[in-house]
Amino acid sequence: MYELSIHDPEVADVIRQEEARIETTLDLIAAENHAPRAILEAQGSIFSTKAAEGYPGRRFHAGCRYADELEALAISRVQRLFGAEHANVQPHSGVSANLAVYFATLDVGDRILAMQLSHGGHLSHGDSASITSRCFHFSHYGVDPATERIDYDQVRDLARSFKPRMIVAGASSYPRLIDYEKMAAIAREASAVLLVDMAHIAGLVAAGVIPDPVARADFVTFTTYKTLGGGRGGVILCRREHAAKINQAIFPGAQGTPSLNLLAAKAVCFKLAMKPEFTALQRKTLETAAAFALEFEKRGYRIVTGGTDNHLVLVDLTSKNLTGEVAEKALESVGIIVNRNVIPGDTRKADVASGIRIGSPAITSRGMGIVEVVQIVDLIDRILVNHHQPSVLKQVSREVTGLCRQFPVYPPALD
Ligand SMILES: *Cc1c(COP(=O)(O)O)cnc(C)c1O
Repeated sequence: MYELSIHDPEVADVIRQEEARIETTLDLIAAENHAPRAILEAQGSIFSTKAAEGYPGRRFHAGCRYADELEALAISRVQRLFGAEHANVQPHSGVSANLAVYFATLDVGDRILAMQLSHGGHLSHGDSASITSRCFHFSHYGVDPATERIDYDQVRDLARSFKPRMIVAGASSYPRLIDYEKMAAIAREASAVLLVDMAHIAGLVAAGVIPDPVARADFVTFTTYKTLGGGRGGVILCRREHAAKINQAIFPGAQGTPSLNLLAAKAVCFKLAMKPEFTALQRKTLETAAAFALEFEKRGYRIVTGGTDNHLVLVDLTSKNLTGEVAEKALESVGIIVNRNVIPGDTRKADVASGIRIGSPAITSRGMGIVEVVQIVDLIDRILVNHHQPSVLKQVSREVTGLCRQFPVYPPALD
């Protein structure tokens, strides 16, 4: 950051402070991960300045020889990683990827059946606050109130009565596996196309430690920065027959020039994800999430669905007389970073919420395991029980810093 420190000490300072924050706090945001340095280097590379509208071999700017090489590399790697016939690696984000799939396959006003945001779905799945709900006509399925798992009978009933042209499977705060075979059968019966949005779980899928939707879905979208740990960005996978319309929907349909620097990072991410170390990391991510569920239950917390099959745990704070908002703030004050989250059937609004969502990817990436999860849940519990006691806050804060110091996210570099 030599040049930056000279030309903009203010921004350089904020970046240094963010680096220090990452090193000294516990990141339990289920949608985040610590990207390896190689990813950050690719993101900060010279490719951030190249304009390259179009696709490899068919650009609207000259000088794209290496841009083409880079994009072709990213495409072939991600196709191999997920066994997909076609991949578009240009979406700037998960939402852009979803928008492109909607507009590539549907007409404005068409019907889409997707998971309710308050039951674990995503804003871009037709929430009233999202632009998607103004372009398409959504109906939503949810979870069974008793099991808190997706109610497939309701999905089937809605598919029959609502007659969607597309069904979306995928979620942001659903701790269980999704039955893609069932979803595909329901979609087939309704003559709807199936989009699986695996944003959160793409790393787990890539490693083969949870079921893979790619063969069952017509379209698959995901982000590269969550369990995959590859920095920001989105990807679309589909069969060859849909390739042209998906590519058109991204460019020129919804985006201009791709972020080639992010594309470079995606290429690196896909290479890293083929390594045995990555598989081991994803398996450990599942184990640490399961340990979170167990440890919270031991301390009398109710876990939504009674456990987890993936990288996240939803903790219901109702019986502890705490809101998600209060818990999130109290935990942040001691360096434990979580997000408040509504639980199925929540009576509180999303900005208050009755639960917190705990994700295991980031702490697992920095080398923590089950032993540390036991410590972390103990720290969280001490805060939630004593969040008004300054002496407890101070002591826990000290222990968080100590734990973080043992597991540096970015050990000192040689440069
Ligand atoms: C995170 C997420 C997205 C959005 O990704 P952005 O990169 O923030 O646009 C889309 N769908 C699901 C299910 C997600 O969890």
